[in-house]
Amino acid sequence: MKKAIVFLEVRESRIKKSSLEALSTALTYKGNYFDEVHAAVFCDTPPDFSTLEGNIPDSIQVYKNIEFSLYTPQAFKKELATLKSDAVETVYFFSNTALGKDLAPRVAAALNCGLAMDLTEIKLENGNFTFTRPVFAGKALEDMQLETSDKVVTLRPNVFPVKTAGASGEIKLTTTEVSNPDLSIKTSSLKKAEGMLDVSEASIIVSGGRGLKGPENYHLIESLADALGGAVGASRAVVDAGWRPHREQVGQTGKTVSPSLYVAVGISGAIQHLAGMSTSKYIVAINKDKDAPIFQMADYGITGDALELLPIFTEEVKKIKG
Ligand SMILES: Cc1cc2nc3c(=O)[nH]c(=O)nc-3n(C[C@H](O)[C@H](O)[C@H](O)COP(=O)(O)OP(=O)(O)OC[C@H]3O[C@@H](n4cnc5c(N)ncnc54)[C@H](O)[C@@H]3O)c2cc1C
Repeated sequence: MKKAIVFLEVRESRIKKSSLEALSTALTYKGNYFDEVHAAVFCDTPPDFSTLEGNIPDSIQVYKNIEFSLYTPQAFKKELATLKSDAVETVYFFSNTALGKDLAPRVAAALNCGLAMDLTEIKLENGNFTFTRPVFAGKALEDMQLETSDKVVTLRPNVFPVKTAGASGEIKLTTTEVSNPDLSIKTSSLKKAEGMLDVSEASIIVSGGRGLKGPENYHLIESLADALGGAVGASRAVVDAGWRPHREQVGQTGKTVSPSLYVAVGISGAIQHLAGMSTSKYIVAINKDKDAPIFQMADYGITGDALELLPIFTEEVKKIKG
């Protein structure tokens, strides 16, 4: 018997898209590897499950407690570990979000099993999983096989597709009111950045670099991001200069992103920047230097002055979008 348990992360009563990606991925192995795929949710009030869009697990275990509106690592870990039953090979799926990156290793340690994080590909061959993740700041890909029968994996957000059509039917929910959860570590408050889309979850990102010349020109990046319905990102040079907040920084010491579209404007393409965005599906670069390294990574490149090109680009996007 083999089963998958997918951790569904909830924010403001909605299941995060990245968790849906993890669920959809686990379900693709139902029948050809897993006998059952289950999910687990921690909340104070249950989220809207209609967003599962045909990705229906065998059951969803809902853990309720007033404290579970925010992350309480020890309590989450304890409940997740108890979902494993003896003699059942269990693979836990998380999304590689900030929370997933913290919780998954705790669960792996509790179960004393193998852990593979930040995966960008999973292959099933001859009944064995091979897990792939970028290493050395994205310079190489590492293939791994975990030898323990139980496994914990985290999937890089925006890499694995979500099936929009699939199984239909009732969702089997089991609700447990958790009394006296372990609150030895807990999140005391979570402040959301005002009205901004977070780069790590956006499917379109427009990032600016030192080529923007100064913070006074950054509105050109914001306008293009707005027109495309995307988030604003930044290189470290721009963050270090105090033009933009660190939460927007993409790269080795910033956030790792995998949007469908990444527009790099006035960014040279240093290895540390590429480490954070090289798995983007389409990369568009605007740079006045035709030899800038970013062009080696880009699917589409425009050589020219960003300050002149950005308003034109934004206008054209607005026209197309009507
Ligand atoms: C340990 C370590 C960790 C790091 N982590 C990160 C990280 O997480 N993220 C990150 O981004 N960097 C990181 N860096 C820094 C990285 O090495 C680069 O210094 C940084 O990415 C450069 O930012 P930039 O491309 O904006 O600036 P620059 O390298 O100065 O490039 C500016 C680019 O703009 C172009 N340009 C200039 N004027 C115009 C114009 N008018 N129109 C169009 N293009 C123009 C130039 O041709 C140039 O290519 C890290 C470095 C180290 C050592």
